Amino acid sequence: MTTSTADGNLFIVAAPSGAGKSSLIRALLERHNDGSMQVSVSCTTRAPRPGEVNGVHYHFLDVETFQRKIEENAFYEWAKVFDNYYGTSRLVIEETLKQGIDVFLDIDWQGARQVREAYPPAQSIFIVPPSLETLEQRLRSRGQDSDEVIAGRMAKAQAEMSHYHEFDYLLVNDNFDESLANFEHIVLARRQRMALQQSRHAAKLKDLLANAG
Ligand code: GDP
Ligand code: ADP
Ligand code: 5GP
Repeated sequence: MTTSTADGNLFIVAAPSGAGKSSLIRALLERHNDGSMQVSVSCTTRAPRPGEVNGVHYHFLDVETFQRKIEENAFYEWAKVFDNYYGTSRLVIEETLKQGIDVFLDIDWQGARQVREAYPPAQSIFIVPPSLETLEQRLRSRGQDSDEVIAGRMAKAQAEMSHYHEFDYLLVNDNFDESLANFEHIVLARRQRMALQQSRHAAKLKDLLANAG
């Protein structure tokens, strides 16, 4: 992707299923509902859960359509997670960042690697639960997956978590409000990065330095 300093910031958020990444992203977007940030809606071949809406939570595709999109290079990244395909649309990410809007990618570690490689300025955040017991409770309390699916996700949780050190930031999602505040700090700090501030405040900086030797 060709970048300009005025582009929005790209944030990768990964976690084992049930650690709270969707809830944290959703809560942050609610606090900043001024159009300055968006979550990327992934494509997936998994079946919709009760209440999930096509185009809102995911773009639900059949396997043939997903594979065709892979061949068309339509994905910024894609990966197979829990036997289903998941992918991020290239066009949407590029167009949104170009408008100066920050974008969150809720993706797994395999996708995170691809994005870091393709776009080094991306900042990556890994979220862990306070304990494995809590993780399982959260998967159950969400009430959206069968026992079999939950057992499968618990079995894969440690494999996902073993990649935590590849990320720039680590959040332990114990108290939700505290995690949300820490998440927000990461995002807001990134908005003050030098290259972006220089382009935002070019005229002001020129004035401030007008008579500088
Ligand atoms: P959840 O983790 O319980 O919310 O379950 P989901 O079915 O929503 O997500 C399953 C996994 O796929 C998670 O690890 C997501 O981060 C990952 N995932 C979702 N969308 C994408 C995507 O577009 N690309 C990649 N690489 N991973 C994704
Ligand atoms: P993920 O997107 O990582 O799979 P979710 O955001 O769907 O996880 O969270 C899983 C469940 O745990 C949800 O029911 C959510 O309300 C709950 N949850 C998330 N964070 C916390 C927290 N800090 N304390 C208690 N429950 C939480
Ligand atoms: P779920 O099926 O519970 O919504 O998601 C399962 C896992 O797939 C989650 O850990 C999520 O991070 C991952 N996932 C969701 N969307 C994407 C995506 O677009 N790309 C990749 N690589 N992983 C994704």
